[in-house]
Amino acid sequence: MNTTTSRQPVLSGGSGGVRKVHLVSLGCPKNRVDSEVMVGLLQGEDYELVPEPDAADVIVVNTCSFIQPATEESIDTVLQMGRFKKEGRCETLVVTGCMVQRYGSSLEAELPEVDAFLGTGEYHRIAEILKTRDAAAPRTHADVPMYLPDEMAPRVNSWSGSSAYLKISEGCDHRCAFCIIPTLRGKLRSRTIPSLVAEARRLVDQGVVELNLVSQDSTAYGKDIPGKPGLGPLMAALSEIDALRWIRLHYAYPHGLPDGLLDQLAHNPKVVRYLDIPLQHASGPILKAMRRGVTTDGQRRILDRIRKAVPDIAVRTTFIVGFPGETDEDFETLCNFVEEQRFEHVGVFTYFQEDGTPAATLPDQVPEPIRKRRQAELMRRQKRISRARNRARVGTVAPVLIEGRAEESDALLKGRLPTQAPDVDGVVYLNKVPEGVAIGQIRRVRITQAGDYDLVGEVLTD
Ligand code: SF4
Repeated sequence: MNTTTSRQPVLSGGSGGVRKVHLVSLGCPKNRVDSEVMVGLLQGEDYELVPEPDAADVIVVNTCSFIQPATEESIDTVLQMGRFKKEGRCETLVVTGCMVQRYGSSLEAELPEVDAFLGTGEYHRIAEILKTRDAAAPRTHADVPMYLPDEMAPRVNSWSGSSAYLKISEGCDHRCAFCIIPTLRGKLRSRTIPSLVAEARRLVDQGVVELNLVSQDSTAYGKDIPGKPGLGPLMAALSEIDALRWIRLHYAYPHGLPDGLLDQLAHNPKVVRYLDIPLQHASGPILKAMRRGVTTDGQRRILDRIRKAVPDIAVRTTFIVGFPGETDEDFETLCNFVEEQRFEHVGVFTYFQEDGTPAATLPDQVPEPIRKRRQAELMRRQKRISRARNRARVGTVAPVLIEGRAEESDALLKGRLPTQAPDVDGVVYLNKVPEGVAIGQIRRVRITQAGDYDLVGEVLTD
C-alpha cells in the first residue's frame, strides 16, 4: 500500500485542530494491515489522511527490512519523504515497522530528520507518541514485540472495497536459516476466534466479500492460545458471516497442516479451493540446510494429502534459488519437482545473504549471476505450466469477483477467479460485460482466451 486510501474522513475537535497525515506502507500484506491500523488510530485522533506527501503535516513511513534491498528501499523512501520536511509543509516524520525493529536506535544518527521511530510492537502507540512528543522524549521505541491488535483496533481497509486482509496471528516460532522475520516480529501470538470474527463482520459490513487470512505462519494458528482452536474452527466460524463469500488462506507452513483445515477446504463452499504453501526448495540437502523440518518426500506426501482431500485445489508456492551449497544437481531436483507437481502458481526468489541469519555464515555461497540464471530458468519452466493450465480453462465457466477497471484500458473490467489471490496471481480481464454488473459482485464468467498468467472472459447474464 502506498497509502493513500480513498476514504479521508475529516475528524473535528481537539485543541490543535485537524492535521494532515500521509502514510507510505512498504513490504508485505502483514505490514499493510499494521498500516491500516495506524491510519484508523490517527483518524480517530484529529488526523485526516491525504494522498500527497506535500500536503501533509505528518508523514509516516511503515518500513520493510526482510532483506537488504528492502531495507535500502525503506531508507530511500525515508530520505525522499525527509525532503518534504526540509523544504515543504511537513513538520513531523515518523518511521515505523520492521526496519526500526531490526536496527533500533542506531538509525537515529543516520536519519536525523526523523522525529520518532516505532518498532513492530509499538505502532499502535503512534497517536499517543505524536501527541506527547517533545525534544526530551526518546526518539526510538522498539522493545521485544508483544502487541497484537484485536477487534477494537480501528482499522481502515485500504484494499479494494470488496477484499481485505485479516491478520490471524503475529510472529513465528520456526527458525528457517534464511529468515530474519522471527527477530523482527517476535514469537507466535494468535488472535482469538471471537476477535477475528468481530473484525471480519465489521469488514463485511463495509462491503468486503473476500477475506485473505494472513500471518507469518498460518499453519500454527491457535497453538499458543487456550483450547488451541486451529484453522478448521476459525474457517467454520468466519463462514457463518452471511454476506462473506470467499475465505482464502495464505502463508501455510507445509508441516503440520491440520485435518480441520483440509476438511474446510474440501467441504465449506465459502473457503476457496486455494492454498498458498511456501515450500522454499525441494532438494533434501537444501531443505535440511534451510532448517525447514521437512524432506523432499515429506513435501510430496503433504501435497498428496492435500490433493487427495481436495482434488480440485489450486496450490501456490514460493521457492528460493541459490541458497548456499545449492549445486546444479539440487537445482535440477527443484526443477523436476516443479514439473512433477504442476503448481497453479509459483513465485521464485533469489537467495539473499542476509546479515543476522544463520545462512549468511554458511560456506559455498552461490554467485549472483548463477542465482539469477536459476531464477530465470525456473520461472521459464513454470511459465509453460501456467500457460498450459490457463489454456485448459478456455471454454469453462467459473465465478469471478469483479474488482474494478483494468489499468490497461478503461473499456475493460478485471476480476479474479477463486484460484487467483490478490496482488500475486493473475487476473481475468472482462471484455463483455452486461448491464447491471458492479464492482464487488461475484459473477459467472466464460473464459475465452488465455495468456501465460492472465485470462480473458465474458460475464454471463444470469
Ligand atoms: S516459517 Fe516463514 S516466517 Fe517463519 S522462520 Fe520460516 S520463512 Fe521465516
